Amino acid sequence: SFSDAIGAPKIPNVKWDDVGGLEDVKKAIAESLKLNLKPSASKGLKRSGIVLYGPPGCGKTLLAKAVANQFGVTFLSVKGPELLNQYVGQSEQNLRIIFEKARLASPSIVFFDEMDSLAPNRGAADDSGGVMDRMVSQLLAELDTLHSTKNCDVFIMAATNRPDLLDPALLIPGRFDKAIHVRPATDIESKLRILRPLSEKVTLDDGITVEDIAKMCPELMSGADLSSLMQKSAMAALREVILNIEADPEASKNIDLNEIQVKIGSKHV
Ligand code: ATP
Repeated sequence: SFSDAIGAPKIPNVKWDDVGGLEDVKKAIAESLKLNLKPSASKGLKRSGIVLYGPPGCGKTLLAKAVANQFGVTFLSVKGPELLNQYVGQSEQNLRIIFEKARLASPSIVFFDEMDSLAPNRGAADDSGGVMDRMVSQLLAELDTLHSTKNCDVFIMAATNRPDLLDPALLIPGRFDKAIHVRPATDIESKLRILRPLSEKVTLDDGITVEDIAKMCPELMSGADLSSLMQKSAMAALREVILNIEADPEASKNIDLNEIQVKIGSKHV
């Protein structure tokens, strides 16, 4: 069933420090979560969720998991299209299941990825009275109920690459009052902030520093780009070690495999 498919909420193991850079974004998310998850701190304010938007691979999902870990709350994640079902009424039912699970597991965060496919602009969808129309209405109703419930400690986060497609009725206080742009890194300093934690998991040759690697990058780099760059460099370094062993099996006979050091040099990046 859908309920089994999305699994039980649990605290993710992504640490706040695993998210490199994005300091302003992290600060904004943490502040919003504090206000919304602790109702006593938000007296008089309409409680709301937040939308993260920006190109793929820039850390939206990572941020959502990390903030759940940081605050020690359970995390439920669902991609917009996963909720959609061809049977009449089942999509709305799926949405109810998510909110119910979140309430039972509270304090919790619900993360709706690919939100544009779940709540497209009703005016533009050309589907008046159709399933998407009903989905958006149901979502708005769930959000309104959730946020007007006293002592409700469920925080709603959404992510999209296409904020322009979202139904504007979502983006008001009481539903989602904050839209936060999660951008790729452009300057060296931002690239370094993502690269430094990544480089702690590998060994760099004496001849190369993270600064050198940052300088070699194209101008626009997402966190996913930088992470895959480090992984590929580590693979290239490992491949060289293996090739050296294969080239001279005689000399390699006495090598202790546990002693082999794989170091990333500039030629591997
Ligand atoms: P999508 O729109 O495709 O869902 P996204 O913005 O949610 O993209 P993530 O799934 O969070 O992107 O990022 C993909 C992967 O890239 C992460 O699992 C992580 O390995 C790496 N990554 C992205 N951003 C960062 C970052 N700021 N620091 C460290 N790693 C990052």
